Amino acid sequence: MGLDPSNIIHVAITPCSAKKYEITREELVTGSMLCTDIAITTSELAALLKKRNINIASHSGSFDTLMSTASGGGIIFGNTGGVMRAALRTAHFNITGSNPPSNLLDLQKIQGLTGLKEASVTIGSTSLNVAVCYEMRNAKMLLDQVIDGRCKYDFIEVMACKGGCVGGAGQPAGSSKIEKRISALNAADVQASNRYSHENPEIKAIYRDFLGDVGSPAAKRYLHTTYNDKSNLILSV
Ligand code: SF4
Repeated sequence: MGLDPSNIIHVAITPCSAKKYEITREELVTGSMLCTDIAITTSELAALLKKRNINIASHSGSFDTLMSTASGGGIIFGNTGGVMRAALRTAHFNITGSNPPSNLLDLQKIQGLTGLKEASVTIGSTSLNVAVCYEMRNAKMLLDQVIDGRCKYDFIEVMACKGGCVGGAGQPAGSSKIEKRISALNAADVQASNRYSHENPEIKAIYRDFLGDVGSPAAKRYLHTTYNDKSNLILSV
């Protein structure tokens, strides 16, 4: 778009209070710029809107490009099993050349408020064991299996919060709402005109015009990161 990156203020509105720390991580700095400048939680945004008497429902308009189109696969990222389901949809397309049948599209076994879920799926001639977990005690159990060489899973999704990001600490408190939020995301996915991340026209355009192929040097530079040991931060608290 020909914009000077230093003139862009990138604000993340997020269910995740950990994002406030995350945006300052040195692994997410490009040059001397933060990739995300400000992170505010959904609760903070709601409080701000109330304080300013802004009724968001009475406003109309459209998002700018890059952020205007969401696939169902992107929408369900916010709940447990959603990242796995979206990734398997695209894996099915990449392996077989066609979108998945409904049983893989929805993959009921890895949905819902159970802390550790698993499923076996077949894509083309490939069989996969997948696991989905939330809360760190479940993640630890899986990671111990990986470290011990006992892990039977090919693909593991971990979300720290109960139910996934819908239960993030930046959301209004109250776990009774988590199930409703999961249902809302799944309903939005079912109703989406496009349920596949790989069919999102704006994502396709970014790859075509800017990033190049999946896994290209540019894609790795802008989309990939590394995670360094931060346990000293926990130990020093
Ligand atoms: S699961 Fe929780 S900690 Fe992880 S990104 Fe989502 S809100 Fe943040």
